[in-house]
Parts: sequence; C-alpha cells; structure tokens
Amino acid sequence: MRMLHRIFVRFIFIIAIFLPAQAQYTLLLPDQLFDGHNTVRKGWGVLIKEDRIVGVGPISALEIPKDTRQISFPNQTLLPGLIEGHSHVLLHPYNETTWNEQVLNETEAERVVRATNHLKASLLAGFTTLRDLGTEGAGYADWGLKQAIEKEIIAGPRLFIASKAIIATGSYAPKRTGFAYEVPQGAEEADGQHLIQVVRDQIGKGAEWIKIYADYRWGLQGEAKPTFTSEEWHDIVATASSAGRMVSAHAATEEGMRRAIEAGVRTIEHGDAGTTTVFQNMADKHVALCPTLAAVEAIAQYSGWKKGQEPDPPRIKAKKESFKNALRQKVPICMGSDVGVFSHGENVKEMELMVEYGMAPLDVLISATSGNAEIFGLERQLGSIKPGLWADLVAVSGDPTQHISDLRKTTFVMKGGKIYLSVTPKP
Ligand SMILES: [Zn+2]
Repeated sequence: MRMLHRIFVRFIFIIAIFLPAQAQYTLLLPDQLFDGHNTVRKGWGVLIKEDRIVGVGPISALEIPKDTRQISFPNQTLLPGLIEGHSHVLLHPYNETTWNEQVLNETEAERVVRATNHLKASLLAGFTTLRDLGTEGAGYADWGLKQAIEKEIIAGPRLFIASKAIIATGSYAPKRTGFAYEVPQGAEEADGQHLIQVVRDQIGKGAEWIKIYADYRWGLQGEAKPTFTSEEWHDIVATASSAGRMVSAHAATEEGMRRAIEAGVRTIEHGDAGTTTVFQNMADKHVALCPTLAAVEAIAQYSGWKKGQEPDPPRIKAKKESFKNALRQKVPICMGSDVGVFSHGENVKEMELMVEYGMAPLDVLISATSGNAEIFGLERQLGSIKPGLWADLVAVSGDPTQHISDLRKTTFVMKGGKIYLSVTPKP
C-alpha cells in the first residue's frame, strides 16, 4: 500500500513537471479607461498574462483565452499605476517630528520600520512607482527597502533610489552652529575632485539617481544660495551619466537652477525662483520640473497658515506665480510632491494642487503616468496601458479626468500582475 502510494505521488510529480504551467490570464473590464496619454475610452478591456499587459482594446476585439479570470469595474476608471516623482520614504511629516529630530534621534531601524508602513500606504493609494530622492541621514537603507519589496517581504511600490544624496560641505543640515558637537548630516558632503569619487561610491551602493543640492539656506541671513560651482557640476554630471545615471537637482534659486540646467541635469526639484529665462531654458533642453507644491503648502500650514480662512502667505503666492510661469513656458512637469514632508499615501494632494494652480486634470494625470515614465526613462516598462508593459494598474471610483480628487477613491491596485487591493466601491 505504501509502495503504491509512493509510486502514485511520483507519478503526479512527473505530470506536474511535464505539463506546461497554466497561463494565468486576467481581463479587467472598467467603465472607462485612461491609457496614460490623451485618450479616455469606454467599453475597453485590458488583458493581463502573469506580470504583463498583453492586450488592450474594445472588448469585442480582444482575443480572450479560455479560463480567463474577469474583473469588472462599474462606475470606475482604470488607469496606469501612478508614479510619484519625488518621495522620501524614510521621512515622516515634520509636524509629527521635526526633520532635525528624525535625522539625529531616530535610529535607522526605527526609520526603516516606519518606511515599510509608508511604502504600503503609497502602494494602496495607487502609487505603484516612486522615485525616492534621498534617505536624509538613513544611509543606504533605501537599497535594502527596494530589495525587500522585490523579494516580496513587504508590500511597496517599485522604487528608484538616490541613496544618500550629495551636498556641498557646510551647506546643509542639521546646522552645525546649533550644536556644541559635530552632528551627522542629512546627506553626504563632497566638493571639488572628491565629488567624482562620491558619485561613483553612491552608484556602487545602489544609487539609480544622483541627487544634488544645487543650493541651500546657507546665506548670511539664512537665505538660499548656490552650492556647487559650474566646474563641480560638470564633474558630477559627467561621472553620473557615464554610468548611465541621471541627475536630479534640488534647486530653489535662479543661479542654482541655471548651473544645474547648464550642466545637464534631468530634473529640477522645487524650482521656486525660476525666471522666464530659466524656464525657457528648461523647456528647450527638456529638463523637467518637480514643483513639490504639496510640501510647500504643508510647511506653510505647519507654521500656522490656515488655508481657506487666511490669505495666501507670500511664499504660496510666489509659488503659484512661478508654477504658472513654468506652464506658460511649456516646461515638462514631473508629478513630484516631496511626500514625507506630509503623510505618505497622501500623494494625490500634489495632483489636486497642480489642478488648483492652473493645470488641466487630464494633463496632471498624464504627468503622473506616461509623463513621469518618459522623464525617468521608464516608458518601455510602465506609465501607459500598452501591451508589453508591466501590469501596474489602478482603478478608482468616478472620473479623475474630470475630478482629480476621485483619485482618492482607490478600489483596485495591481503591481506586476499581483493584486494588492480590491474593494467594492462605496455607493
Ligand atoms: Zn525632497
């Protein structure tokens, strides 16, 4: 009997080896579909095989294999997974704990544990990809988090990371004058020829992007002033690009932006003091702007501004003006919020503000999908609903192409063909 049983088990095992693995097809049937570009379609379906999109089109035109699992989305819109262009998963809102306090007094272990929550919140909010721009004192922990997501130990978006980020000596924070002892910094200091080595070292430790602080608040009155010289910028970009890495510049001053753009960076973060000439230059060179509107508003509110009840403070007025100017000059806009300054999973705040500050909802959606994918060189992998791309898809109740806040009503999140959220929409 035992012998028979053993033969039977072996027989089943052999069948399992020789039978081709059952292909897993899923058909998503939304009320309407936004493909990441200009079009909104009704009556279309998306066919997924394992981790990829294999078909998209009118349902009657799709070849649907037998045994395909079907999921319908009545009164919902299906979109490509959203891409956050500027996050800090190792930070949490500054009104909970100040930035200084997080960098100096939270252990790396605590910060990583918090980050696992942040990553899950981002994914469930529909953000299937994040470009994370610096660990702010948490070393190379972003690399470990990326590994943990890829190994499916934790749930999180696809991460594209910058590791420690690079600052000019003396320029960044925590400010040394605030302490009687040497304090660790929120990014890695380097200058002159040493920059070449630091860029290479960060690449060696996992940096997919090189993040540079082009200016910081180190003027005599604490105002923002440029950091790296044009010669230093040249070395940074040459070193990064020869290793196939693009450069992102934190830049809020006109001169900081000018030097970074001239050197060949891919994105400017913040860009508050951009002038018409600077923005024209960005448009000509196809350098994108991550405006981080939500972070600017969050910081104004943390210092007491009551939005809606009080007039806009000067910083907000100036930000609105400069954002509108960037739009007028046709600068490519990256959807990048600086989330971490405010709550992870609240990334849609940035998209709501982009609309409030003058962008059409459809353009904002393009920015957060195919636009960011193109800026980050990922358009062949994600950002659109097209055959061959990763099956990163999100459904929301309502129509975010008309009402951007409908993005908050997430009902379904799929990343690489795996479903992370699937709920019946609230009536
Ligand atoms: Zn940032």
